[in-house]
Amino acid sequence: MDLKGKNCLITGGSRGIGRSIAEYFSTLGANVAITYARSKDAADEVVEVLKKNGVEAMSLQADAVDFQKAEEVINTVVSEWGSLDVVVNNAGITKDNLILRMNEEQWDAVINTNLKSVFNYSKAATKPMMRARGGSIINIGSVVGISGNAGQSNYAASKAGIIGFTKSFAKELASRNIRANVVAPGYIMTEMTGTLDEKVLESIKEETPLGRAGNPEEVASSVAFLASDLSSYITGETIRVDGGMAM
Ligand code: NDP
Repeated sequence: MDLKGKNCLITGGSRGIGRSIAEYFSTLGANVAITYARSKDAADEVVEVLKKNGVEAMSLQADAVDFQKAEEVINTVVSEWGSLDVVVNNAGITKDNLILRMNEEQWDAVINTNLKSVFNYSKAATKPMMRARGGSIINIGSVVGISGNAGQSNYAASKAGIIGFTKSFAKELASRNIRANVVAPGYIMTEMTGTLDEKVLESIKEETPLGRAGNPEEVASSVAFLASDLSSYITGETIRVDGGMAM
């Protein structure tokens, strides 16, 4: 796989899966810009690692919920590097609760951070990608968006929404050679899942045919495939990276 010369933007690249994607992309020769919400030190550290891999790198503070900011971020990348080839919409949060107990703030925060952000950055990327006569957008969904999950109705709705949005985007922009796909991870070891209690983790492993949690690098490699020209005839697809969990 080769991403040499591709200019890529990853939302939420300071930690977890986003950081792994950024590092993986850099080993394949891509220039990588990451955004973050709060973790400036972590984002700075990622940029150092990327530069050591011999590529251009930058980090930008940008709440993914902010519509206007998304356009500013993309304009910055294009003005620095001349074009934008790949966007990975990775920024995401959970605020779990049973529907009976879920409040409006928990619903809105998760829908806005996980779903509105995908609209923000996909829309803002469309113009530069049209000018470049092509591009690839990869949206990080979740198996929960396919199968649902008790206690995660807000999260499941946001991730299912991503699949519908991605298919619509893929149909609208296919004639411009802009592809859009979803990578839907199962249970992956990051800070997000680090807060789950032991019993929940054990039952997740039992429900996973491959019998273990995934690691962020195993998500990053599928994202890199969809970013690369090796996937040039794939659009509107959802690839599960879940050890068989949602099969
Ligand atoms: P982490 O909590 O480890 O990292 C989340 C990243 O998103 C951080 O870089 C964080 O930045 C950033 N972020 C959060 N909110 C915002 C915001 N409003 N604006 C900009 N950036 C933001 O999560 P994971 O790495 O585990 O998850 C990454 C993606 O993968 C998410 O979309 C998640 O839903 C999805 N996913 C994860 C799974 C898992 O098992 N871990 C399973 C399925 C899907 P900062 O550090 O500044 O807060």
